[in-house]
Amino acid sequence: MHATAPAAGMLDACFLGPYGENDGLLEKLVVEFLRDHVYWRRNFHPEDPPAIPTDATFAPGYRSFEARLRRELHALSAALKKSVPFHSPRYIGHMASDLLLPGLAAQILTLPYNPNNVSEDAAPVTVDMEVEVGLQLARMVGYPHDPDHDPCAFGHLTSGGTLANYQALRLALALKAFPVALRAAGVPDIGMPDDDWTAFNLGPAAGTELVARWKDWLAALPPREHRAWKAKVQAERIEQLGLCEFFAAHDTLKTPWVLAPIIAHYSWSKGMKLLGLGRTQLRLMPERDMRLDIDAVNNTLARCERDQQPVLMAVGVFGTTEYGTVDPIDGLVDARDAALARGLGFSAHVDAAWGGYLATVFRNEDGSLRDREAVAEGFAHFPRAGVYAAAAALGRTDSITIDPHKLGYLPYGAGAFLCRDHRAMALLAESADYVFHDHALRGYRARYRNLGQFIPEGSKSGANVAAVYVTHKVLPLDHANFGQLPAQTVRSAEAFHDAAQAFAARVRDKVRVIVPFPPDSNLVGVAFNPAGNRDIGIANDFARRLHDELRVDPSVPLQDRSFFGSATTLRPQVLGDAGMQRILAALGLDAAADEDDEDHLVILRHTLMNPWLIDRHNGISYIDLYFRHLEKRIAALLP
Ligand SMILES: *Cc1c(COP(=O)(O)O)cnc(C)c1O
Repeated sequence: MHATAPAAGMLDACFLGPYGENDGLLEKLVVEFLRDHVYWRRNFHPEDPPAIPTDATFAPGYRSFEARLRRELHALSAALKKSVPFHSPRYIGHMASDLLLPGLAAQILTLPYNPNNVSEDAAPVTVDMEVEVGLQLARMVGYPHDPDHDPCAFGHLTSGGTLANYQALRLALALKAFPVALRAAGVPDIGMPDDDWTAFNLGPAAGTELVARWKDWLAALPPREHRAWKAKVQAERIEQLGLCEFFAAHDTLKTPWVLAPIIAHYSWSKGMKLLGLGRTQLRLMPERDMRLDIDAVNNTLARCERDQQPVLMAVGVFGTTEYGTVDPIDGLVDARDAALARGLGFSAHVDAAWGGYLATVFRNEDGSLRDREAVAEGFAHFPRAGVYAAAAALGRTDSITIDPHKLGYLPYGAGAFLCRDHRAMALLAESADYVFHDHALRGYRARYRNLGQFIPEGSKSGANVAAVYVTHKVLPLDHANFGQLPAQTVRSAEAFHDAAQAFAARVRDKVRVIVPFPPDSNLVGVAFNPAGNRDIGIANDFARRLHDELRVDPSVPLQDRSFFGSATTLRPQVLGDAGMQRILAALGLDAAADEDDEDHLVILRHTLMNPWLIDRHNGISYIDLYFRHLEKRIAALLP
């Protein structure tokens, strides 16, 4: 194993643990802070007598209520025993694992206060924390994060990555269309583009500067003119007109495209539908070895330039959902800059819902980027040169999605959206009044206390926010602190990759086994083919039977399962014919001969985020146990 041990003991204190080892710590915290909450209630106006009489517990109605409550909670608790054991190192399926104690404790502590982060009126404390979380994450990815200086990033939490990706689309569209609205309203010269095409293609940086200039110009006007101009521009905005009216009014402009890799998460399709742009406008870019093919992106951009086809956004993925692969984010921002220089402006967004927290491994404690040699210490192969370049380029992108409820080991309901320059956010504000008036008067932190103005949601949990904030305070987002967690996942993936190869050699007589893509991060796929077989259908049946024993199945007692894994498919539409052929050949399989044959390959997919896959105290490796288990299954299936 290629291990540098994390700071002694830290990892052992971070989680409740597979055996509930840290139950004492969590229980102490929960009881202590529940009592603390109760005292807070009492001390609000201690002179008020208790509203619930002290003898209420003796009333029959009270007792039967309590009895019903207990019965239902017992039933719930019993039913939940069929839950998926995410906490266990025997769970290597989807992107879920144990929960970080700081987050769990902070969330439980905050729940009875029930803050609503829609605004400061409903969450005087946790709204500030949310703005702070945005700045913490901004620092992690290399965005400017000093609110006293423009440009400064801004971020907020969402229910998940799906909504964060949607927010990115919304912001990019607002920013792209605003200069066109300024022109249509006839705003006198504040450095306005000469025609709609140029206005629609300013790109996010120049677009944001134009928003700032417009605001300054407006602020200098007397109140009546100020109001009149505001209304005039508002009437021309895409948010006011809707897509139909806007593009009808500017008929030289086509509906813009969004370029995303073909294995992009399905939230992108949802977002296109929700925004009304339509799925047709989502243009799927091919991959090369499961990483976005930048040459194809550049070719598409050249075609867009030629055909006057506007582009809203190009998306790269930092840690794909299926394979954990990392797209060339550096190539993506270079492509954006080159296209802008030729007059085709668009935003570059990174979907780092899964891989976002890997960025901690690349950060020094002072926030600077670590060099590749320093990052590589303690790993066998990580970070591939392309992965390092992608991580280093995150700060050059326009917006990023990161899920604290994935690699942040926090409870669900915590995604995050980040944009590089917060001044663009003014365009998303629900009340124009607020945008163009208050905006100039209030400082960065105060402005975003009315969070509900800017986010897709309305009411939302402040307890979730407290969980993320406290976690980032206890484990700062650098390599020496939080970074130890994703580093451990990468070490586990490297160990898993090695073990897969040893396993392949052991079972060679019965099954051909390959790892189709060496891992970029912490997911590893494994493909199988029974020896001598050349038919994809038969290989897939075999992989499905292996997966059947690794699946969540509520009709099977949990303890009957040795391990939990997941499955995915490799498709020629994604890999390209050459890529697919390489993998089929390595397995000794023929390509599908006719239309009716299965053309995709079923493989097992493993997410290696559990912190105890490599047990540090008992001398066992769950990774080795897993492959021993597969070996037994293979022996049973192929006697
Ligand atoms: C999980 C994921 C999403 C969606 O996030 P949710 O939190 O499930 O809404 C989007 N993109 C990628 C790459 C993901 O891994």
